[in-house]
Amino acid sequence: MTIMIDLKNVSYRYPVSDDFVLKNISFSIEKGKFSAIVGNNGSGKTTLCNTIRGFVPHFYKGDLDGEVIIDQTKMADYQLGQLGEKVGYVFQNPFIQVSGVKDNVFEEVAYGLENLGVPVEEIKIRVEEVLKLVKIEHLRDKNPFELSGGQRQRVALASIIVMDPEILVIDEPTSQLDPIGTEQIFDIIRLMKERGKTIILVEHKMDLIAEYADDLLVMHEGELVMQGPVREVFADPEFEKYQIQYPHVTEIALQLQKLGTALSFIPIRDEELAKA
Ligand code: ADP
Repeated sequence: MTIMIDLKNVSYRYPVSDDFVLKNISFSIEKGKFSAIVGNNGSGKTTLCNTIRGFVPHFYKGDLDGEVIIDQTKMADYQLGQLGEKVGYVFQNPFIQVSGVKDNVFEEVAYGLENLGVPVEEIKIRVEEVLKLVKIEHLRDKNPFELSGGQRQRVALASIIVMDPEILVIDEPTSQLDPIGTEQIFDIIRLMKERGKTIILVEHKMDLIAEYADDLLVMHEGELVMQGPVREVFADPEFEKYQIQYPHVTEIALQLQKLGTALSFIPIRDEELAKA
């Protein structure tokens, strides 16, 4: 068992702020696991993602305590750019991710590899493969800015997947997408899991988390308050306390449970029972 992401007592405070927005967070994620982070707005989910990809504190500055270890190496021991190859980050808003410097989808997806100086023939092979995988071959000659939100999000994912990072950190990729666009993104994430990638996803759509993710991390006011296999966390009565939406199946099960408890108090006479 290889641990890919390991946080030990991590606390973080942005430079302008008095309060810590991450408070003494510890968890570890095994290679190949798909973990979802849930929590209300402002609970620290994006800051946690930025910590895993090294933007906290390197880009945002501020005070970081504790230890962040990515694939057995301490964050501080990574060379500039090396971490970016290991951890691919997909933004919530695909309009930010798309570079805007390339005028067709093929070149957009190839851009990161070009920057790394990968030979042209290899770039061609890798981009072709990813366009097929993400099902955007038909968009290859389109300008990224002519695409719909869902198409653009798939281009954004393709441009990260082509770099072949071992860890994918994906922050609310479907927040601006319709149900079909959302399913398409989850199909890609499922394929990445099948390829053994370690995936961290921030997502509000609980039904999809219940269907696809292995583990759940629950953030509340900067603290990691619950963690474990998805089913166990949803089944734990403590989850209700954080006022996060349940998946529909869990909600129905909980309603039935309450109804069952209520019905068990209705006295039924033996003869009525015998007739039933
Ligand atoms: P979430 O992703 O769960 O909505 P965030 O990680 O975005 O939460 O935010 C956690 C807290 O950090 C919030 O109180 C937010 O206002 C604060 N915060 C986020 N980004 C910054 C920043 N760049 N500078 C200062 N405070 C920030």
